[in-house]
Amino acid sequence: MGNRYRTWFGEQRGNRAAAAFREKGWRVWYAEDREVAKKLLFETCLPKGVTVGLGGSETLAALEVLPALRTADYHLFDRYNCADHFAMCRDSLLAEYFLTGANALTITGEMVNIDCSGSRVAAMAYGPRHIIVVAGVNKIVDTLDEAVARVHAIAPMNCKRNNHKTPCVETGLCADCNMPGRMCNHLLITYNAQKFPGRFNLILINESLGF
Ligand code: SF4
Repeated sequence: MGNRYRTWFGEQRGNRAAAAFREKGWRVWYAEDREVAKKLLFETCLPKGVTVGLGGSETLAALEVLPALRTADYHLFDRYNCADHFAMCRDSLLAEYFLTGANALTITGEMVNIDCSGSRVAAMAYGPRHIIVVAGVNKIVDTLDEAVARVHAIAPMNCKRNNHKTPCVETGLCADCNMPGRMCNHLLITYNAQKFPGRFNLILINESLGF
């Protein structure tokens, strides 16, 4: 069981952010923990039989979604098990559903993400018909400036996770590198989701998940 004051704080901020995202056209579910979130994902948000693309995400890993997605219930574009990663990620752009985490969410209803290849932000911007974002309340910051700062601040951890050969993996500090493994190449700010009603979906979890 987590600290009850932290739980209260996460609930306050989570509900406030949820209201802001709904105001901007998102469909939002609030989950007390990852188990509730996983149930929402598979029983409410993601219909059986659909094609599914994935963004690399520690939060999705924490929810342990892969085993279910690899069953006959879904047609998964499996970025973790493929011969041609570029082709798999490109094919994922035409999946019906795309599951992903988020690098930062603002309490006023914006989402900010940064990518190395751009495959994930491309999917979010104009790929699959349905985007499902799964995120812990630790991703919520107060302002857009803080969100942009956050995505840069966590980039060294993403480089470490993906075994990229960048200076930040040695030091934990950004050196504004200029090399193939650079994580910080494509920045996407999703200001508003009214364009295609129902396209952007958010499961907000009152836990600290990913980084
Ligand atoms: S610009 Fe390069 S050094 Fe800086 S965080 Fe991104 S990948 Fe690391």
